[in-house]
Amino acid sequence: MKKLYNYIDGELVAPINGNYIDNYNPATGQVYSQIPNSDEADVSNAIKSARNAFESWSNLRNSERASWLEKISNRIEERMEELALAESIDNGKPLWLAKSVDIPRARDNFKFFATAIMHFASESHRTSSGIINYTLRKPIGVAACISPWNLPLYLFSWKIAPALAAGNTVVAKPSEITPMTAYLLSEICNEINLPKGVLNIVHGLGASTGNAIVTHDDIDMVSFTGGTTTGEHIARTIAPKFKKMSLELGGKNPNIIFDDCDFDKALKTTLNSSFANQGQICLCGSRILVQRGIYNKFRDAFVSKVKDIKVGNPMDDNSRMGAIVSKPHFDKVLSYVEIAKSEGGKVLTGGHQVQLEGDNSDGWFIAPTIIEGLDQQCRTNQEEIFGPVVTIQPFDTEEEAVEMANCTGYGLAATVWTQDLNTAHRMSENIKSGIVWVNCWLLRDLRTPFGGVKNSGVGREGGWEALKFFTEAKNVCIKFD
Ligand code: NAD
Repeated sequence: MKKLYNYIDGELVAPINGNYIDNYNPATGQVYSQIPNSDEADVSNAIKSARNAFESWSNLRNSERASWLEKISNRIEERMEELALAESIDNGKPLWLAKSVDIPRARDNFKFFATAIMHFASESHRTSSGIINYTLRKPIGVAACISPWNLPLYLFSWKIAPALAAGNTVVAKPSEITPMTAYLLSEICNEINLPKGVLNIVHGLGASTGNAIVTHDDIDMVSFTGGTTTGEHIARTIAPKFKKMSLELGGKNPNIIFDDCDFDKALKTTLNSSFANQGQICLCGSRILVQRGIYNKFRDAFVSKVKDIKVGNPMDDNSRMGAIVSKPHFDKVLSYVEIAKSEGGKVLTGGHQVQLEGDNSDGWFIAPTIIEGLDQQCRTNQEEIFGPVVTIQPFDTEEEAVEMANCTGYGLAATVWTQDLNTAHRMSENIKSGIVWVNCWLLRDLRTPFGGVKNSGVGREGGWEALKFFTEAKNVCIKFD
């Protein structure tokens, strides 16, 4: 069975304790590889190596660091097919999706920050004649980058690339549920002879390996993407040590559809925003709010289209949805269907496991599910499910839509469908979330700020925001005669 290695100090190494964790293929339910169950000793070596590498890496010219990132990006492009296959097997997502979204985006993340750092500049303030201030933006040190399982290499690289571009060295941990493409990234770093210690990748469980990283005194900042409960733990650990942190957390995103929307476009995109990647994208809309005038028409059309979605083998190009990432997550998602029923919800379609045949007979597949008839305060409408389960409910007025949109503890993203410019602007102003999409979903320009409000996170990533996070500003004030 294939065993993965940690990537520490430029070497692919086994965990010191010799312990491994099973890694499952969600589409077959079978263990297919093992990953290091690293402990404090491995983490400590990784952090030491990153610390040693910091001075020379941070002193490189921006153009030199950019060129290393470009080499990584080019290697990802060259190994695209292999990486996409690995991502699909590890995560359960359709292969076509890994090929068209995940891996191209990982390639682009490195390319984007390679060019961004070449254009990054800091400010200067002339106070008066004889007094000038300028801001130095310096790399900070060792960045801990921790990422989740839903978009494995995509999100892993979204943190690592700006951290490295800005001149920091990195200790990174991918999710133990989807470690494979992070491991292949360490192979890539070896292939291009990335200077040792600049990037270290340590595999293992969140509660042990992840915790050992964030509690270590010699890291300087943490960039974390994952669940709100984990984020709270990290904040509690990091904040008293006054380390910089960026937390990208969970969501319960509203998808608000007004009577005057372009019906066909709203319907088509809502199918995608509800069930892409099996509903396991933090930006998926899980509460569909439809204005009463078109509620019945939209609901019926939506249910009919969702019934046609093919859930199947991720290797099959005709499968629109693949497997749920793990057995515990599969159980969690289905448990929410039961919670919804007990809260009075009516399952309009789905709500059950999909039993496939052959190699996939033990895989974890769930039918796309729509639930109607729930109030806003129930658990189903308040808690993040993070799977192919959405609720649908009517609203009458714009004020009511805003109230419904804002009534959860989360505030990551929202989608608004209307043809009225005034409604679009007002909704965009009044929805409490980090991102609002109007008449579209998941259009991402990598220069824009990305992040959430309330329980969806602290801080912003993307473009200059990421480069600002991964640098520390120092003001220099000069008086001259
Ligand atoms: P998770 O919080 O369980 O794990 C995320 C990462 O943190 C993993 O690598 C895990 O090993 C690690 N971890 C767990 N406990 C830790 C600890 N005590 N100390 C340090 N590290 C620890 O989240 P998940 O289940 O992997 O991912 C799903 C969640 O991620 C959902 O809530 C989803 O909304 C969220 N998410 C958010 C965004 C965003 O940009 N806001 C993007 C994708 C996913």
